[in-house]
This record gives sequence, C-alpha cells and structure tokens, in this order.
Amino acid sequence: MTETSVKCTGCGSLRLDLELFCRKCGNPFIVNVTGEYHNNIGDNFPYISKFILNPDTDTPLISLNEYTWAKEEFLHPTLSYKDRGMNNLFSFLKSNNVLKNNLKVSEDSSGNAGASFAFFSRMLNLDATVFVSKNANVNKISQIKKYGAKVVQVEGNRKDVETAAINSGMMYLGHQSWPEFTDGFRSISYEIYEKAETFPDKLYIPFSTGTLYTGIYFGFKHLKDNNLIDQIPDLVAVMPEKAAGMHNFMIGKENVPQPSIADALTGMIPLRANFMKKIIKENGKTILVTEEEIFNARSELLKMGLDVEFSSAVSYAAKKKSGKENSILILTGHGIKNVG
Ligand SMILES: [Zn+2]
Repeated sequence: MTETSVKCTGCGSLRLDLELFCRKCGNPFIVNVTGEYHNNIGDNFPYISKFILNPDTDTPLISLNEYTWAKEEFLHPTLSYKDRGMNNLFSFLKSNNVLKNNLKVSEDSSGNAGASFAFFSRMLNLDATVFVSKNANVNKISQIKKYGAKVVQVEGNRKDVETAAINSGMMYLGHQSWPEFTDGFRSISYEIYEKAETFPDKLYIPFSTGTLYTGIYFGFKHLKDNNLIDQIPDLVAVMPEKAAGMHNFMIGKENVPQPSIADALTGMIPLRANFMKKIIKENGKTILVTEEEIFNARSELLKMGLDVEFSSAVSYAAKKKSGKENSILILTGHGIKNVG
C-alpha cells in the first residue's frame, strides 16, 4: 500500500488541518510518499478518492535524436504542465469536500498556473480570481479570462502579487503554497518509468518556484525506494541568467530578477528554497542560459516540429551545452502562449 504524509519542510511536524504553514516553525509543507508503488498511477495518491482528470496523462515522450527525448508536458488541457499539479490539488480538495459551488477562490500567477487554476475553477463552478503582475504575458491573461476568471493586475514584484492574493478574503489556492500541487508532478516520473524505452540518465527541468522539480524528485525517489530503479536520474534545474533565484540562493548571491523572454520563470527565490537546495545538491545541479540561447533553442525546436514557449525551450538550451547522456527534456508550455 502507498502511504503519504504531509510534513513541514523545516521541523518535520505533520500538518494538522489544511494550514499552509507549520504552526510550530512557520515553514511550508511537502507530501512525503512511502510504501508500495502501483502501476496504476492514481493509486500512488491515496489522499485522493476520485481524480477530476485521469492522472495517467500519457503525454508523449518523443525522440529528438539518439540520446535526447522530450516529454510533451504542454499537451494538457490548458497547454501547460501546470494542469498536472492543479488536477492533483483540486482533486484532493474536492475529495475532502472543501470546494462548494460558487466558493470564492484566489491564486497568484505569472500566467500558466493562473490559466490552469481558472480552468479547474470553471470545471467545478468556483468563483475564481487570479492576481497577476502588471507586466504579465497578455496571451496568458486572455486565456485566464476566457475560462471566466477575474484578473486583478497588481503593481510591484511577484511577492506583492502573492500578498494581494493571500489578503483577498477568498480561499487562497496559491499553487506554490499547497503541497498537493507539487505532489501532482510525481506522476511525470511514473510515466517515464512505465513508458520510456531507455531509462534516462538526466532530466532537464525548467525551474521557477521548483514545484515541478520537487515533484519529479519525489516520484523517482518513490521508485528507487521500491528498488524499481537503480538510481534517481540527474535532475538539472534550468533557469534564465536573468531570472535565476534558486541558483543565486544556492551560491549566496544577491537576487535581483530581470524580465526574461522565458516569462513563466520569474526568478524569485522559491518558498521552499532551503529544502530544495539540499535536493538539488544531492540529485543534480543548476544550469543558467542566456536570452540568446533560449531564443535559438526555441527556433531549433520549431524546426523539429515542436512549438513550445520560451520558458520550455530553456531545457533544450541547457541540453545543448551539456554532454551526450541519455536525457529527457521537460517541455512545459505550448508556443501559442509566447508574446512575439
Ligand atoms: Zn515546522
């Protein structure tokens, strides 16, 4: 049987109710998974009685060359990987009867998470508001509105946007805060394990708040704990030079993020930075890419028949600078979301 527990990333205390921060030390939570692995992917999430969408998404894993594959995580309903985490979070809340019709809910997002949040809110008849920064991607704002959510643009940095959403008086479903969102990405590792012809040595993962990276890590860790894989692949956290919050945090450098064409990668220091620093050090590394490298990588992917947003192309830009290990690129968002 698979077992999960929601634990504080600081002191290890268990979550008592649905609080977002530990009542003892103030740190955010993470879902720990132990016990048996199930081939039926949904059975590895025992805290969800019924999924809204099938967690076995079967996004294609396609070959780009003899040693590089791409996991097409942009092929979800809202054209970004965020649906995987949002499906998990909303399915968990619905399983626990937290979400009632017309409940007012809020989220803060640079775009893709907001669109996914608006989509799932629409499915469940929730009254959704997404708080975004003034310079948010207009295509993503438009997508959020098309699902019927309200959009509030906030002056200031990413932290100010988050504060506005938290203080909105609505139920705050910020994707970075809820551990069940992060935990949704475990299924990527399970799908790779079940379906990859060659098990990868390395994964290149676009990194912003690190939820994707952390979820993938826990998925592979669960497989390793079950002795189904020899080792966790190297997990490379890829960031734009201009928006490298986690990297700067790890080397103790002052972090002043600049806008990048990879607009989904905000460059803020993540909520669980201390926790993730250890995981990255033990299981991989960070790689930074320039704006030119991102632009060129996206153009090359287009020529291969892959239309991804710049924020996804960072993974290919990083791979191009690295060795010939068997690698999987996580392609996170569709190119239709790009402005320009
Ligand atoms: Zn704690």
